[in-house]
Amino acid sequence: MSRDPRFDILFEPVKIGPVTARNRFYQVPHCSGMGYRYPNAEAHLRGMKAEGGWAVVSTQEAEIHPTSDLTPANEARLWDEGDLPALSAVTERIHHHGSLAAIQLVHNGLHVANRFSRMIPLAPSHAISDSLDPVQARAMDKTDIADMRRWYRNAALRAKKAGFDIIYVYAGHDMSVLQHFLSRRHNDRSDEYGGSFENRLRLFREIMEDTREAIGDTCALAVRLAVDELMGPSGITSEGEGKDIVSALAELPDLWDVNLSDWSNDSQTARFSEEGYQEPYIRFVKSVTTKPVVGVGRYTSPDSMVRAIRQGILDFIGAARPSIADPYLPKKIEEGRVDDIRECIGCNICTSGDNTNVPMRCTQNPTIGEEWRKGWHPEIIASSPAPEPALIIGGGPAGLEAARALAQRGVDVALAEAGGEWGGRVARECRLPGLATWGRVRDWRVGQLSTQVNAQLYLHSPLSADDVLQYGMPHVAIATGARWRCDGVGRTHRQPLDFLSEGALVSPDALLANGAAAVSVDGPVVVFDDDCFYIGSVLAELLARTGRAVTFVTPESQVSPWSKNTLEQGRVQRRLIELGVEIIPAMALAGRTKDRLELSCVYSGKTRQIACGTLVPVSARLPDETLWLDLKAREAEWADAGIKTVTRLGDCLAPGLIAAAVYSGHQYARTYQEQGDRDRAPFLREDIAMLYGTSARLEPASVRQEKATV
Ligand code: ADP
Ligand code: SF4
Repeated sequence: MSRDPRFDILFEPVKIGPVTARNRFYQVPHCSGMGYRYPNAEAHLRGMKAEGGWAVVSTQEAEIHPTSDLTPANEARLWDEGDLPALSAVTERIHHHGSLAAIQLVHNGLHVANRFSRMIPLAPSHAISDSLDPVQARAMDKTDIADMRRWYRNAALRAKKAGFDIIYVYAGHDMSVLQHFLSRRHNDRSDEYGGSFENRLRLFREIMEDTREAIGDTCALAVRLAVDELMGPSGITSEGEGKDIVSALAELPDLWDVNLSDWSNDSQTARFSEEGYQEPYIRFVKSVTTKPVVGVGRYTSPDSMVRAIRQGILDFIGAARPSIADPYLPKKIEEGRVDDIRECIGCNICTSGDNTNVPMRCTQNPTIGEEWRKGWHPEIIASSPAPEPALIIGGGPAGLEAARALAQRGVDVALAEAGGEWGGRVARECRLPGLATWGRVRDWRVGQLSTQVNAQLYLHSPLSADDVLQYGMPHVAIATGARWRCDGVGRTHRQPLDFLSEGALVSPDALLANGAAAVSVDGPVVVFDDDCFYIGSVLAELLARTGRAVTFVTPESQVSPWSKNTLEQGRVQRRLIELGVEIIPAMALAGRTKDRLELSCVYSGKTRQIACGTLVPVSARLPDETLWLDLKAREAEWADAGIKTVTRLGDCLAPGLIAAAVYSGHQYARTYQEQGDRDRAPFLREDIAMLYGTSARLEPASVRQEKATV
């Protein structure tokens, strides 16, 4: 197929100073959790983006000096020459596919606690670190400022040596010393680096000039700037100093990469924002500079991209998440395969990887982070050498992905779903407030399956063990999902709570199936959330929106604490407060009557009673393994029936994230008919010594001691 001419504009080359991007698709700097500790994984991840058609592929932020040490986070590092091999591997893979490589240099200022280097963090003024560490940054004196300028310069020179084409100076996300200097909130200095706007701008300008001078005229200089912090007058605003900064430095860089700060504002989830949500804040930029402008906003629709260019808001379509969900997004548009785009659902499971210091994962793209260690390609799966047919039972994320990927491998697949719609849990969850885009997990897979002649799809097909034995397919995968438990068992209560059913009890599944109508009893609804991610708060929101009095009880100190990792915790809590939900933290369940619930403080055991018409316990799930157990009980009949393997997938094996269910289905298809070795790690491991390996780094302590005493 050929490209729709409507999208031609997206494939125009654009000059960025001395270099030229082959199209307008720009993978902006984003964390991957792979950083300096998993350099092969990082290089292959970025290479895949280039292969998929992103004209510019950036690293994550690269720490320029040990006073900027984000350990245990795993960013890029450019502390010294020893870091070059890892970064050269990244640029090589990006260049191999004809794209430009960009690096975002950072000094994190007061954002770091320097847990590994144990050096004192640096800031414009004395300040406590913005992690919860009991660590303070010290105010930089003139020597520190001179050091900082030299460190940036040295890092820029190293970046150039590693082969980068675009070198970023970064003042974003409230994570960079340069933004701290710009900010009235962080900068109380009374010298020429503080006070007036021009003074606060000084270090940023100087470092841009130093960087320009260091990189010469073969690399481009890019700036990443937070033009609004969504804090009103106490922060940078796009009508105020955000605009003033761009105006003052308008022609100095070769490219403006502009966004919102902090990270939770920049990477808002679909629950809280629409595609293009940054446009109101960044649209002014092109009116004050002639340099190309890149911005983000979870763009997955080529029509929205074209609109943003034609309306003069952007020159480049910046993307982090859409490029993670589909590294091949540009190629698919170019080849006229728009329906094949695996659209980001805006769930931020990807950011949870970085926030928990592990390589990222993605709900939509199970191959992300597995490019090197498992050799998984997002688009290509080798055909199965002698494919035997498969029966997949359950049409949720696990079953759909298993069937889709098996069909892609040339396996004849039958997919049976008991219900009348595809998608399993995503079909139900996408009807909850703010989660509509989650339906994309289903839609993409059903769309892909519908084009495969070797995939037969059956709705309204609840299968029993008898059915499965009768069909006699050689390979059977059971992806029958899971159900929320109603006995209170979860993290806090490890044994069933018999008293829960003393009054009306509604399971999360009933709410998922029937909405708020599942609650039929008058009186306040109490959501007890011991799951701690999104579902408890979304159900509370669903109920509160129908006008019911809702109380949210959690043993934790905050609503949905794990959603910190998806950058949503603050917005989740705010939303419940705005909807009038009463929030009771740090409480467990202690007893119940028809209309009262007894709570006990998780610290002191002190009890209190609250009104409760209906209780919704959100604690944990149990696999729906009836079919599995029935089949297992009849294992002796498998061979006669022609069945070779029966495998559980997704939530039926162990309830977890949608991302885990998709991954499980994909993994099944990748290793179909293979034996596997259960005693070995099923992936390659990094040999960091090979990449970083200078003898000095590997020298045993005894040798170093000897040298020291000579
Ligand atoms: P996962 O996240 O692991 O994919 P889901 O709960 O989303 O799990 O999906 C499981 C699907 O399996 C549901 O749509 C459910 O209707 C279906 N299912 C459960 N038991 C059977 C069965 N015996 N036969 C066919 N489909 C089933
Ligand atoms: Fe998008 Fe979710 Fe994948 Fe992140 S994890 S790229 S938000 S689909």
